[in-house]
Amino acid sequence: LQRKSDVIVIGAGAAGMMCAIRAAQRGRSVVVLDHAKSPGEKIRISGGGRCNFTNIHAGPKSFLSANPHFCKSALARFTPSDFIAMVDRHRIAWHEKTLGQLFCDDSAKDIIHMLLDEMRAAGATLHLRTEIGDVERSSDGFRVSTSEGAYECSSLVIATGGKSIPKMGATGFAYRIAEQFDLPLVETRPGLVPLTLDQATLENLSELSGISAPAEIRHGKTGFREALLFTHRGLSGPAILQISSFWREGDDITVDIEPDVDLFEHLKAAKKTNGRQSAQTALGEILPKRLAQYLTERAGIAGHMADLSDKALLRLADAAQNWKIKPSGSEGYRTAEVTLGGIDTAALDSRTMQAKSVSGLYFIGECVDVTGWLGGYNFQWAWASGFAAGESL
Ligand code: FAD
Repeated sequence: LQRKSDVIVIGAGAAGMMCAIRAAQRGRSVVVLDHAKSPGEKIRISGGGRCNFTNIHAGPKSFLSANPHFCKSALARFTPSDFIAMVDRHRIAWHEKTLGQLFCDDSAKDIIHMLLDEMRAAGATLHLRTEIGDVERSSDGFRVSTSEGAYECSSLVIATGGKSIPKMGATGFAYRIAEQFDLPLVETRPGLVPLTLDQATLENLSELSGISAPAEIRHGKTGFREALLFTHRGLSGPAILQISSFWREGDDITVDIEPDVDLFEHLKAAKKTNGRQSAQTALGEILPKRLAQYLTERAGIAGHMADLSDKALLRLADAAQNWKIKPSGSEGYRTAEVTLGGIDTAALDSRTMQAKSVSGLYFIGECVDVTGWLGGYNFQWAWASGFAAGESL
């Protein structure tokens, strides 16, 4: 067993494996440690089992961080094209689903196998089922105590991810190490997560559970146009997951159903052409029937289109397209795809991911206060930050 190496990477996830590959390709001896029994478990379950491994539009504007500039350097030096080149070299078939999101044709496991092959080819070693104990500075680096004995290294990379999905072994280990070495943290929150509704609102909306519709969901100046899904717990679907990263407790969100259609104009036209139609039927030509029924009742509108004033039609259109909802909370880390916040980027060098105040200590991937939108951006950050550290180790 190799007990001494140039580099130890803790965490065999997306970021840790990419970092190990690059550092080993550059001739460093690399040991990767993980407490799980298989590597890349989040890759395996990602993108519904097909891994949305990058987004061709991945640029700094699609990431949240206390310092929006921090991610620029790493993202520029390892781009979606660089990752696609690796995927192509391994003959993994992929396709663009929507909005620049790239998925495996077959299985997310292809990506895990690719990373493991690359690690093996470069000579990095992987030890699974290894519980990490204390991390200490040694005379020329770090000493890591584990359930399988102690390991020593000159440089230590923390790639243990965030707090999301504790059932799958997320631990918050990175934050503990940051605290131990006096590095600042940005408060963590669940991101890309369904939003919940209070009991009364849920009961009101219970008829809508299971309905999905194209929508724009807005919070302040931020808005996302994707699908909205009503569930028995509250609101979900990609548009909600996206806005959840921006939403804060107590805030309203604005829902605009069918944002590409001007519903007021549609209703006015319907009144002209078919005055004997009910408002609910006219709205139901565009929206799912149950949703049309709910919104018509909510707007307090009944009767034939011919008898409704423009003011009433506007009220109905607004009920669908300027719909203010106050979520009561989120489903939390149990279902969140990512953790917002984390190691404060002010403490890290943006070119290398090395802690400015602790030479040889690096943080990469989700544990850093850089969080992407939904759609392959979070993996791109994992690859890019892992590569940046791997280049510098
Ligand atoms: P992780 O991939 O979480 O890896 C961390 C590793 O560290 C794990 O192997 C873990 O076992 C290990 N570890 C943790 N704590 C310890 C400890 N104390 N000791 C030892 N080892 C430890 N992003 C996308 O871009 N596209 C998607 O399609 C996508 N789908 C997702 C679907 C789901 C259901 C979820 C939950 C997330 C999804 N994400 C997706 C987000 C993406 O998975 C993460 O952003 C990414 O995995 C972060 O990579 P990481 O290497 O930083 O951390």
